[in-house]
Amino acid sequence: MNLGWLMQECVLPLMLLPTRSQAMKHARRIRQCQRMPLEKLRGLQLNRLRELVELAAAESPFYSDLFRANGFDAEMLGSLDDLQRVPVTTKDDVEANFPDGMVIASRRSDDWQYVGTRGTTRRVMVVHDFQRRDFQRAAIMVALTEDSPYRYGAGQFSIPPDACSVHCGLEGNRADSVSGHLWAIASGRIKRDRAAISDLRGLVMEKWIQPTTIWPPLSLDEGDLPLAECVAALRQAKPTQLTALPEYLKALADYLDRSGEDPPHIPVVRPMGANLPASWKPAIADAFRGSVREHYGSREMGPMAFDCGQANGLHVMMDQHLIEVVRDGATVGEGELGRVLVTDLNNFAMPLIRYDIGDLARITYAPCACGRTSPRLLLEGRVQDAFVLSGGRVLTAEDVSNHFAELPEIRDFELTEMRGNKWALRVVPQPLAKLDLQQIGDRFVTWSGESRRINVRSSTAIRPESSGKYRHCKSLSFGKLLAEQEPIPVAADRAV
Ligand SMILES: [Zn+2]
Repeated sequence: MNLGWLMQECVLPLMLLPTRSQAMKHARRIRQCQRMPLEKLRGLQLNRLRELVELAAAESPFYSDLFRANGFDAEMLGSLDDLQRVPVTTKDDVEANFPDGMVIASRRSDDWQYVGTRGTTRRVMVVHDFQRRDFQRAAIMVALTEDSPYRYGAGQFSIPPDACSVHCGLEGNRADSVSGHLWAIASGRIKRDRAAISDLRGLVMEKWIQPTTIWPPLSLDEGDLPLAECVAALRQAKPTQLTALPEYLKALADYLDRSGEDPPHIPVVRPMGANLPASWKPAIADAFRGSVREHYGSREMGPMAFDCGQANGLHVMMDQHLIEVVRDGATVGEGELGRVLVTDLNNFAMPLIRYDIGDLARITYAPCACGRTSPRLLLEGRVQDAFVLSGGRVLTAEDVSNHFAELPEIRDFELTEMRGNKWALRVVPQPLAKLDLQQIGDRFVTWSGESRRINVRSSTAIRPESSGKYRHCKSLSFGKLLAEQEPIPVAADRAV
């Protein structure tokens, strides 16, 4: 018996006991589903989907209009492919119709939570009910602990891009330790009610189950000092898991490499908040003498996929979400690039069907050496950061980052697509490195296979967006990826 086992199997279930939480059961189910035959999983998805579509058709003003306008109803769902008759739901749709057009009014309850996304360009609000959050709790547990040395109860060190909102979310009138809170309840200083129990649960989660040191966002343009301070704090905290924005992980790894400092040993390094380009992985794993482990999720959808010990793509949790990868109105072939559409199979407070989450990915159904049967996603960055070149060829942020990662003298870059068939490229040199700007520009243009002019400048730093996240690729042409919103026409024999 170890601490992780004790926290995960005893303390956590105990904390969830006073609520109607089924999280432990859900987590077991998610793990089972990972090893079921694909056909069986698809059957489960279809049943759930029918239920969701029926509800949306009857009670979601947005979806009932959308289905009617497209001659679609739940009866037409003979297979998962039939869902392609439903047009994509965009973030604009959700924004324009939230809340009254989107939520299921008859299910309104006290346990509804309004969840805002933390996107780089906009905030979309969604509603989660208790059950939806309970599935999410289970999915988080699975995503963080499968095939990983990290267990609940172990120390975590987190460098989010927006530490303020994380911190602010935790503040309140609460005591700052579990024993302090228990004492306050026992002595009658805090009333013994549902809120006090819920606060106690929050504290146990925060202090015992997932004890986390939160470090402020790193400024990457102030030399080595912020990085050295962070490394010193990591050495002192000795976390089992470090979670941080990919750019922070890369900067810390670069710093450890050039400073020759003895690296802190961190068993699991987990990028958060953005896609980690594959080419950055080895240096980060080396720097911390640990393994880089990833999962894919969002505020509105929760965790959707996680990697196994093979770390060769992210296994989709098919019992939680129906994920499609589409291009030009149709599902792409195995391994081909497309936009990720997500249907939340557990959100019955606010159905989201074929929601365009704004990411690009490939999907593979090839068996994984770990024995899990679920398909794997390979993420390639945001749709709005991808360039569409002549002939419909796409350069993703992942491609471009991997290209520049081959030049060790470059620390960071920002590639902007300009009007008139031009690129503007800013590159940040590694400390003391000399850059041949002309050569860097020519090399990129040749590699891109597109004859465009390029203007290259050297820069001291690339500034983050207001969300704290970084955008290395600024595209004008990404709209061509969205141009298709046309559903497949309803076949005449089924339209009746
Ligand atoms: Zn696997």
